[in-house]
Amino acid sequence: VRAIKRGESVGIFPEGDGSWDGETMDFARKIVKLLKLCAVPVVTVRNSGGYLTRPKWAESARRGKIQLQFDVIDADELARLSEDKLYELIKERIYVNDVKSSLATNVKYKGKKLAAGIQYLLWKCPRCEAEGSIAGKGNQVRCAKCGAAWDLSANLRVTPLMKAEPGLASVIQDLKDWNDWQKAAISNKVNGEAMNGCLAMTEGVRMEVGRGSRKTPFRKKLLFSTVGTGRLRLTREALIMDYLNGAEERFDIGEVKYCVECLNKYVKFYYQGIPRRIFFNGQNSYRYIEIMRELREPPSESAM
Ligand SMILES: [Zn+2]
Repeated sequence: VRAIKRGESVGIFPEGDGSWDGETMDFARKIVKLLKLCAVPVVTVRNSGGYLTRPKWAESARRGKIQLQFDVIDADELARLSEDKLYELIKERIYVNDVKSSLATNVKYKGKKLAAGIQYLLWKCPRCEAEGSIAGKGNQVRCAKCGAAWDLSANLRVTPLMKAEPGLASVIQDLKDWNDWQKAAISNKVNGEAMNGCLAMTEGVRMEVGRGSRKTPFRKKLLFSTVGTGRLRLTREALIMDYLNGAEERFDIGEVKYCVECLNKYVKFYYQGIPRRIFFNGQNSYRYIEIMRELREPPSESAM
């Protein structure tokens, strides 16, 4: 706000995170309040192809086209629109669904080792339904549990390399389909009647705790130290670390704040104002973020 008062331009990435599957995510309503407060023209930018050239989970970039579309909401329109209308307008103007877009259909993207890093996105096998068994090798996505394999193209289409089978595996044609199926599995797990205690579990993760609070100026580098290594579990109520030395540490879901995945290396969050990092050692952490999001959402909303 201070910069805007000085007459400067300010860039905002409303989602605050890269999309996992190429579809624009919902963003915080606070952004709309902030824009109304600033009362200056707003330029929206739609980035199509950004995900196709650099998927969040991927270990390498791909060559291809990126299209940027700029639109302006002038100060009068900004003042006139209700917060809800403004939110919808911005959402509509920045919305992309890269994997399903005309770019993905018409432009030939190019790259190498296209499946490297795929385990950061894909955590469930559509053939045997195992969790945490997916890995990438070269351009192939493989399940270590049932041996299923798929070819992954630079345009993120998946083609089964095993014989055609009836059922789910044949419905999934690209990464977006695959992730939508994973999200539906999470929704069923969280909102389903039959619920066992554990929603996700990963062995061999390392917990760090930082010094300082969220109020520490971001210029000042935070220092982290290791708490311990062990098994991470997620239940309806809490994230739980079972350390190798037998100790247990619980983090109530309601108190886990500002949770983001960083560079496919670690998940960062604040717990009671103190920063934490969990290193997943090359394993999938994305499902924890999706499950916690689902747990926070009222069931009526997630059903829409
Ligand atoms: Zn499998």
